[in-house]
Order: sequence, then C-alpha cells, then structure tokens
Amino acid sequence: MTRPIALPRARPEIEALPAYSRASGAATVRWRASSNESTVAPSPAVVEAIARTGAHGHLYPTLFADDLVAALAERLSVPADAVLTGAGSLSLLQQVLTAFTGPGTEVVHAWRSYEAYPILIGIAGATAVPVPLDAQHRHDVDAMVAAVTPRTRAVLVCNPNNPTGTELTETELRRLLDSVPSDVLVILDEAYREFAVEQVDGVALLREYPNVVVLRTFSKAYGLAGLRVGYAIADSAVAAPLHAAAPPFGLSSVAEAAACAALADSGHTARIVESVHSGRRHLRSELAALGIETPSSGGNFVWIPVGDGATALDEACVAHGVSVRTFAGEGVRVTVGERDAEDAVLAAVDELRGRATDH
Ligand SMILES: *Cc1c(COP(=O)(O)O)cnc(C)c1O
Repeated sequence: MTRPIALPRARPEIEALPAYSRASGAATVRWRASSNESTVAPSPAVVEAIARTGAHGHLYPTLFADDLVAALAERLSVPADAVLTGAGSLSLLQQVLTAFTGPGTEVVHAWRSYEAYPILIGIAGATAVPVPLDAQHRHDVDAMVAAVTPRTRAVLVCNPNNPTGTELTETELRRLLDSVPSDVLVILDEAYREFAVEQVDGVALLREYPNVVVLRTFSKAYGLAGLRVGYAIADSAVAAPLHAAAPPFGLSSVAEAAACAALADSGHTARIVESVHSGRRHLRSELAALGIETPSSGGNFVWIPVGDGATALDEACVAHGVSVRTFAGEGVRVTVGERDAEDAVLAAVDELRGRATDH
C-alpha cells in the first residue's frame, strides 16, 4: 500500500467552483434545443475556407488573428487596437475578468443569467454579486446600480439575457451607464445581438462611455459554435491591458478563416436570423394558445417560466425527442430554428397539460 501523501491543491476559489450543467438526454434525442446553437450548418464558403486553411495546418497563425481583427475593425468602424479576438467570447470574458477584477473585488451581474458568469468570476478570484431579475424576467437596472460598492470593478450585463431572452432598452442601458462610476467596467455580453428586437448597439455606446467592453461571438448568428471564435471591442485604453495579457496564437488559423468567410457571407447569417425570428414567433404564439405566456425574446431561444414544472417539462421534451436547457424550479430554455423540434416541445407541453387536467 502507498503511504497517504499530500497532493497539490488548487486555490480555494477554484475548488469551490460550480460545474457547468449539461443538457438532459443529449445522447439519445433527435434534436438539440439545449445549447443555443444555430440549427443551420456553416455555408459552403465557410466550409471551403476551413478546408483551404486546414491544408496549411503545420504553420502558426498570426499572433493575434490580424486578418479577422482588420475585418471586424472595418465592419464596426473602430480602430484595430480596439478589437480583440479569442476562442469564443467566453474566453474573452475570462480574460477581461482576470485583467480587471480579482480577490477583494466584486462583479455585479443579473441572475438568473448566463451560468458561466459565477464560474468565470470565481476563476478570477473576485466575488460575484448576483442581482435578481425583476418580475418580468428582465435586468433590474436600479437594483444593479444599488449593488455597486467601492469594491465593484465590473458590472456584467447580458443583453439579450440568457436564458430569459429579455432585453434592456437603450434608455435603460444609458441609465445604468450614467449611474455606474466611470472607473467601473461595464461588460456588455451581446452574444445574441443579431437576433435582438431592441437592437441596442454596445459599440455605439462605447464611443460615449469608454468604460464599456462589448463581447460578441460567431457562435450564434454566424453558426460557428464548434469553431470557437468571439471578439471584444473596447476603448483603446481599456483594450491595451487586454492585449498585453492575451494568450498568443489564441485563435487557430482554421477558426480565423472560417470567421472571416462567415463575416463576408451576410446572406447566410440573414437566413440563420430569419429561421430564429420565425421559430420564436411560432413557439411563443403556440405556447400562448396553450395558456403559457413567455417573455419576448431577443435571442435564438424562448424561455418557458414554468417554475416547479420545469423538471417535468424537461423529461417530457426528452421523451418527445428534444433536449432543452432546464433550471429546476425556474423554467426551461428552448433553442428555436428547427420547426420539428419546436413542435416536439409543444407536444410535450400539451401532453403535460392533458395530464394535469386528467387529475
Ligand atoms: C452562447 C453565449 C456566449 C457565447 O459563448 P462563445 O464562447 O462565444 O461560444 C456568450 N454569452 C452568452 C450569454 C451566451 O449565451
């Protein structure tokens, strides 16, 4: 027998991290409506770019994805030094939190919101300050502003919000920006911006509020979740330490080429966005016909706030062949864009209703 030995231990805040939740029944279902992926595969132009670049896979990419940065800077009319790219906007969020927060500091964010937030704040060693959504499942701007203390280094705004789909109006976001001290970073996570109803533009606000960092991604409206490409836009002064701390070669050459091709293929993105608009309309109106009101969604998903019925609905969805994202006691988030999957969820809801009225 080996002697018991002391093993290396991670920092306590790492050992305390919660785990990411997984979609239920993911291996057996016909449709994945659990991860907000695009239901449309990449365009032929993107697939061709991947193959062409893959042939040179023995060579390093540029240090900081120069071609994609140039394309994004031109598209957004910002200087190239205001743009950073990374392996998904999540990795950029981790970089921002690591550079600007840390032990003894606080990060204010709405809750329920994206489940990665408390994890990434924890990795940075900072303290998460979750502020409950209001009764309409929306960010509570006044409560978030009130939660800012001298220890606050960042306020994290998910707009549109995952998993509820709710959005801030530009007036509400301006109220938040006007109320937060200028030395506190306001991180706008705009992962779903292309699907939004309000169309609040964080990059436009950034010109007035240089403490804003905007995070966007190719994972949703550009349909490249598997390629891992995201980007951040910030005032050059805020971007400078992010550039300094960025991992070199953070984007693979294949991912960069795919993103450049996807950016150029606006017709394909428009088709993805249209499939989402149509799916949202269909699912929300049919749910309303079944007596279930859902919040207006600016994302590629619909939030079904069934509270204690969430787990039963999750199981019924899996039984009808579709995986969804469930937060027990709160609700179920359904990715839209695939009519058969939406109809499977509706069949599950209908069946549960039938069961409830049988008793
Ligand atoms: C999907 C999603 C992202 C995107 O993550 P990537 O790392 O870019 O794939 C970021 N924020 C929110 C709220 C999301 O739902």
